[in-house]
Amino acid sequence: MANILVFSEQAPVAFELLCKARELGVASAAILSGGEGANANNYFAYGAQKVFVGADARLENYSADLYADALAQIVETSGANIVLIGSTKRGKELAGRLAQKLNCGAVTDAIGLVTQDEKLAVQRYALGGNTIATDVIATDRQVIAVMPKTFEAIKQPAATTVEIKVSVQLCEPRVKIVERKPKAAATAHIESAETLVVVGKGFAKQDDLALADALAQRLNGEIACSRTLSADYHWLAEERMIGISGKKCKPRLMISIGVSGQIQHTVGILGSKIIVAINKDKSAPIFKIADYGIVGDLYQVLPKLVERIGKS
Ligand SMILES: Cc1cc2nc3c(=O)[nH]c(=O)nc-3n(C[C@H](O)[C@H](O)[C@H](O)COP(=O)(O)OP(=O)(O)OC[C@H]3O[C@@H](n4cnc5c(N)ncnc54)[C@H](O)[C@@H]3O)c2cc1C
Repeated sequence: MANILVFSEQAPVAFELLCKARELGVASAAILSGGEGANANNYFAYGAQKVFVGADARLENYSADLYADALAQIVETSGANIVLIGSTKRGKELAGRLAQKLNCGAVTDAIGLVTQDEKLAVQRYALGGNTIATDVIATDRQVIAVMPKTFEAIKQPAATTVEIKVSVQLCEPRVKIVERKPKAAATAHIESAETLVVVGKGFAKQDDLALADALAQRLNGEIACSRTLSADYHWLAEERMIGISGKKCKPRLMISIGVSGQIQHTVGILGSKIIVAINKDKSAPIFKIADYGIVGDLYQVLPKLVERIGKS
């Protein structure tokens, strides 16, 4: 039976991974802590049978070197043959380093885990998001970094649980932190929004986004965007970008306006419950995945929509 160890520096992502891990075999979790404050109970609630805690003051702040070092020791202690890591920015960096220490194969950005010929196979986007590749890691031990929101976090406590303290012996980090500057706090939380209004290049100028803002306000939703509006035009912050290079979102309602629906964008919205698309081109690819479509000029459609919603 597979022995799976889960780790993410973001606890909600670790909970998602635990739910998949308990389907695959015996699920355990690793917590790296700068002190004694680690709460294993949260992990037990999502099905971890064992929680391994590596505590050391130097683990208080993230360091790829030290985290990989500590995790490698926890993997050895746990005897895990599959290590699932959250494919966050830090998780991706960690996965490669950990695999190097464990002398095994690693895959990052996984969007699915399936069983193929009795082996665990990893699905991920390839060729710029145009296809899904299925990879099988050849080594017995595997490190797999899975994208956040791939699995649903559902509480289901294990029947028996045990917390194990691992006294990790940390190496001297090769990177010296000389200064820390706080990052500006995120203002958008598009991954957890119930309603998203997604804007694209169909908007002729930045000021026109006020139309979409008005709709989002009426629906109590968040604004998100295509890469064009964020990375190319810099009209909106990167934290609002959806897609293969942005965020993956699963809102109950998504209204996509002036977005063509290229695959690199739509991979980030496929989990949405209802997709409404507004586009003046009736052959725009976004209509293939939309539940409801309005073929029309957004400058005519949006004001009417805002007015109608305001009246209802
Ligand atoms: C490796 C790689 C990674 C990428 N990653 C991402 C990613 O993570 N996220 C992402 O979004 N993109 C990504 N892209 C870019 C992606 O391929 C598209 O170029 C991008 O999503 C297009 O953005 P858009 O839909 O806003 O613009 P366009 O494709 O130009 O579409 C604009 C749409 O607006 C419509 N329109 C124009 N005027 C109006 C109007 N007045 N009323 C109504 N509709 C109108 C047009 O008919 C058109 O369909 C990536 C590309 C590559 C190669």
